[in-house]
Amino acid sequence: MDSATRDALARILADERARAEAALRAHDAALEGLGAARSDSTADDEHDPEGATLADEWSRLTGLRAAALRELEALRAADARLAQGTYGVCEGCGRPIPPGRLEVRPTATRCVACAS
Ligand SMILES: [Zn+2]
Repeated sequence: MDSATRDALARILADERARAEAALRAHDAALEGLGAARSDSTADDEHDPEGATLADEWSRLTGLRAAALRELEALRAADARLAQGTYGVCEGCGRPIPPGRLEVRPTATRCVACAS
C-alpha cells in the first residue's frame, strides 16, 4: 500500500470514527431523555396504537447504541493496525486487501475471498 492510499484510508477511518462517536453521543442523549420520559407517567404512550411504545423505543435505541459501540471498537482496532503497519493485510490469507474494498469497508480484516 503506497503512502497516498494509506493517508486516504487514515482519513476515512478518522471520519468514520468521528461519525460513530457522534452517533454514540446522540444515542446516549436519546436514551437519557427516554429514561426521564419513562419515569414520568404523563409521558406514557402505551395507549397510542400508532406510536412505538417507550419500551420499544428503548430497545431500538439500545440496539443502535450497541451497534455504534461495536463500530467504534472496530475502527479503533483498524487505527491500531494502521499504526502497527498491519492494516490492509488479510488475516485469512495474508495478502493485501484491495484499497477499493477498504474505502468501502475501512474496518475490513479479510479480503472478499476470505470473508465469503
Ligand atoms: Zn484473504
